[in-house]
Formats: sequence, C-alpha cells, structure tokens
Amino acid sequence: MVKITVLSGGVGGARFIRGLRHELRQTRPDRAGGTTESVTAVVNTGDDMWLASLRIAPDLDSIMYTLAGANDEERGWGRLGETERVSAELRSYGVGWPWFTLGDLDLGTHIARSHYLRSGLSLSEATARITARWDLGVRLLPATNDEVETHVTVDDGSSMHFQEWWTKHRAALRARSFVQSNVSVSRPAPGVLEAIAAADVIVLAPSNPVVSIGTILGIPGIRAAVAAASAPVIGVSPIIAGSVVRGMADACLEAIGVATSAYAVAAHYGARSSGGLLDAWLVDESDAAAVPAIELLGIRSAAVPLWMRDLETSATLARDTLSLAFARG
Ligand code: GDP
Ligand code: CA
Repeated sequence: MVKITVLSGGVGGARFIRGLRHELRQTRPDRAGGTTESVTAVVNTGDDMWLASLRIAPDLDSIMYTLAGANDEERGWGRLGETERVSAELRSYGVGWPWFTLGDLDLGTHIARSHYLRSGLSLSEATARITARWDLGVRLLPATNDEVETHVTVDDGSSMHFQEWWTKHRAALRARSFVQSNVSVSRPAPGVLEAIAAADVIVLAPSNPVVSIGTILGIPGIRAAVAAASAPVIGVSPIIAGSVVRGMADACLEAIGVATSAYAVAAHYGARSSGGLLDAWLVDESDAAAVPAIELLGIRSAAVPLWMRDLETSATLARDTLSLAFARG
C-alpha cells in the first residue's frame, strides 16, 4: 500500500485530492470500489472561526463536500442545491456577519461540528464523525485541534480575521502581514506528524502558499516533520503564468515579499537539499521556461498541464505528480 499525505487548503486542494482519488481508483482499485492506496489530507484550519455560536471550518468542509460530490461546482464553494433561509433570519436578528452567508445545508454541518466540540470532542474527533457520513475514500485530518486563526493586518495598521478581509473586503485592502493567533503554543493534531513520517510521498497541494500551506507549516513541528520525512516531497504550483487561478494568493504573496510566479513560490518553499521543503515542483506548461531555473535551486521540476478544469484533468495532474515524485533525480 502506498501512503500519500497531502497538505491542503480548501478549493485548490479539494480539486487536487478528488483527482488523486479518481486516478487511484482507476489504477489501483480495490474490490469495494475504493483504492488499495491510502490518502491522508492534512488540512488548513487557519480560516476557521466561531460565528453565531457555530464553529466554521471552510477548508475541511470544501474538501469534504467536493469528495462527497455534494459541492456547488458552479459557484465553486458550499453545498449543491443550497438555500439560505436561516441566514436571512439571522440577518434579521443582527446575528453573525451580514456579508457572510451560511447556507441551510451547510449550517447542518456547522451545528453538528459545534455539537461535538461542545460535547468535549476535539476537532479531529468531530471531523472523523462528520466525514464518516460520506464515502470520501480519503482521511481528513485538521492540521491542529487548537484554535489558530489567521488575522490580516492591513495598511492602516488595523487587523481583522482572514474571512473578513477576504469575504467582506474581497482582499481589496492591502495586506501587510498575516498572523496566526496562538500558533506558537499550538500542536499538530493527532495523526498529523505520523501521516507525514509514514508517507511514501508527501504532496503540497496547489493551495495558497501563505494562508493555507503556510499556516499548516507554521504549526510547531510540522515543517520540521516534512523536512525530515523519508518520503519525497513534491509541490504543485498554484500559480500559472504569473497569475492565481482563483482566489487571492497574489495579494498574500505580495505581503510576504514573494512574487506571483511558479518559480518564486518554489524558491519560497526551498529545496530540501538546502534546508527547504521540496524535492520536486510541478509547473504549468506555460511556465516551462522556468524549469531550468527551478532545477538550479536543487528542485526537480517538470512542466505539465496544471489547470484542474474537471475530474479528468485533475486526475492527470495527480498522475503527473506521482510520476515526478517517484522519478529518479
Ligand atoms: P482556498 O482555501 O479555498 O483558498 O483554497 P486553496 O488554498 O486550496 O487553493 C487556493 C489556490 O488554488 C489559489 O492560489 C489558486 O491559484 C489555486 N488553484 C485553484 N484552482 C487551480 C487549478 O485548477 N490549478 C492550479 N494549479 N491551481 C489552482
Ligand atoms: Ca481556505
């Protein structure tokens, strides 16, 4: 059995993991319609928050809904066939954030999670219970059970929760820095370090390098575990031809002084051979010219199609990821 551990944010990571599952089901099927390989996703929890007394975990839910086939593909997030009656009521009461709509079906997930947390379960235990409902074929682990939430400091010096910066302000306020509250005293959730140490391959998903992957790596112990892992570490660029595919990674990268390019993000993660994290880095075909420079950093690289347009293109990307990871350097 090949053990694949993926560090992941929400939407970009979810698409990649769904493609990976599809690829494994085709090439390594088991008798039950699953796969003989095991995939563990270590998921960013920096976007999580309490809202209207409910614990919201956007990245865990994006992956869960996507793998369950229950996500709204057109809108790109949330549940398929969603309604917003409860949110309208909450707005009338002035409860929650008027600009942050929680769908009715989605609220069911948040109520279930909050129920488990209030019953004394950890976020990983709550996640295990919630994901058990669906046939995901992938184990989802929150990166940490501690409440480590990303806050953004903007130009005028004020600070707000990442969700407010992104959803209310659409990342239009220039970000100066991203700070994860309480990160220094947080611990990786049970199973996270083990999934990294026991992996046969570790993938940094095409997720936001700052507020998704960066947040996971900032939890004490995780970066060191990836750097010390025996498995090859391969990353997939979330940047294609100098642009983000969707989202606000460009604004996040600017705040940490990293250019929005496949090369710059590879250099930011760094080569494992020189104290960084990567053995290999996949870039899009349109960034093929960057491959020699990335290899000069000590990172094996290849250019393949990185657009995850549908299940097939995502599965092909997963296949390319595994083959570059296991290629002899
Ligand atoms: P979020 O938590 O929902 O923001 O999602 P992630 O952090 O997992 O992923 C966001 C990143 O995914 C963005 O920087 C996008 O550029 C990247 N992304 C989204 N779709 C694609 C795609 O089809 N291909 C690649 N290579 N990157 C993508
Ligand atoms: Ca996210």
